[in-house]
Order: sequence, then C-alpha cells, then structure tokens
Amino acid sequence: MANYKIGDTRDLGACSACGNVIVIEAENGLFRPQRCGNPVKLADGNWLCGSCLRKLRIKYPQEYRLDTKQKKMLPYERAGELTAEEAERELGQIHDYLEDLREKYGFHQAVFSVEKADVKKGGLLKPSLYTVTGHVIYGTFTPLDEVSIGLNGGQKALISCLYYPHSITPVSDIQIQQVTGKLVIDYAWAEGGEEAAFIFREKSLNLKPGDIIVKD
Ligand SMILES: [Zn+2]
Repeated sequence: MANYKIGDTRDLGACSACGNVIVIEAENGLFRPQRCGNPVKLADGNWLCGSCLRKLRIKYPQEYRLDTKQKKMLPYERAGELTAEEAERELGQIHDYLEDLREKYGFHQAVFSVEKADVKKGGLLKPSLYTVTGHVIYGTFTPLDEVSIGLNGGQKALISCLYYPHSITPVSDIQIQQVTGKLVIDYAWAEGGEEAAFIFREKSLNLKPGDIIVKD
C-alpha cells in the first residue's frame, strides 16, 4: 500500500461499501498508525475504508510485495483488485465465510498459518529467538498471547512480540526485553488476513512451514 501524505488524502470521499467518510489525518481517530487502518483504492477508482478492507482480508489476505522504487517489501492489498460492486457483494457474504473458516479450524479463537520459521540459537542459559512469519487466518493475536502449535493442543508457547514481516533488521534480545517500547506500539495486534511475524523466546520450539498456531 502506498504511503499517504496528509495533503493528498483529505478528499477521499465516502467508502464505496459502507458510506463512511474516509478522513485521513494523523490526529484523527479514524487513522491509526498501524497499517491495517489505511483505506485502499479499488480497481474502478473507488475507495474502500480501512474498516471494510479489514473485514475482507480473511478472504483476500494481505501480501507483501517488493516495491522496486523503495527497494523493500511493502504490504499489498488483494481486495484492491475488486470493483466497488464486487467489494460490496463480498462484504455481504464475509460473515458466512468467517463462520465456515471457524468450523474448518475447529472453532479456535484465532488461527495463524506458518509460512517461514527462522531461529537464532540462544546460549547455554539463554532461550532461542524464533521469528515466525505467516498469515493470520482469522481472529486476533497480540503480544503475550499463549498459543499452541497444531489444531489439537500441541506444544505451548508465548508470543513475545509482533514484528514486521520481511524486516531486514533482525530482532535482538535487547529489543524484546524492551517489550513496552517501540516494537509493541507499532504492532499491538495482528488480525484476520494480515501477514505478520511473531517472535518467540523459547528454549525449544518445533515449527515448520505449513504448521498452524492457535489461540483459545
Ligand atoms: Zn467502509
């Protein structure tokens, strides 16, 4: 998604699906610094507000794509490929879609799909640092959530914090210990359809792509 400047975002008009006026100002409550608050421009030039976009993400998950100009991975919203009419129709069916997902995943409160797991080994008395990247399938994860690996209550682990997916800067032990500091302010939660990275500090954690992490 593009970075919006205050000057060119005041006149986005109404959300084509819910009719809410899209006001983008840093001081405005409608604009959240977290990336999921941003609206998205649809294929036909209409706008979808951040709230409608977030509802659609469980069906049209967020992706990260390489921005060749900025030379970094930036969030890309697949829902932006819809027209206003399609977005409105999809929003009308999204509740049923969510219920089907919940049933498919055994009605856990929140479910995450692991796509990549990196580990930085700890020392003799230090836990290892695991960076686990993937998509939230539905529900919301926050730092300090206790989760389990697998749908049927496997290994338990505590999410230390959430982090940028595809960050080129590794999380250090020091950043994790400042858990009330910078990291958590930007990434207080990750919700359905968002791509996210979880950081775990554990002695040992057996995780691989394709695994499911659940919260109850
Ligand atoms: Zn809306």
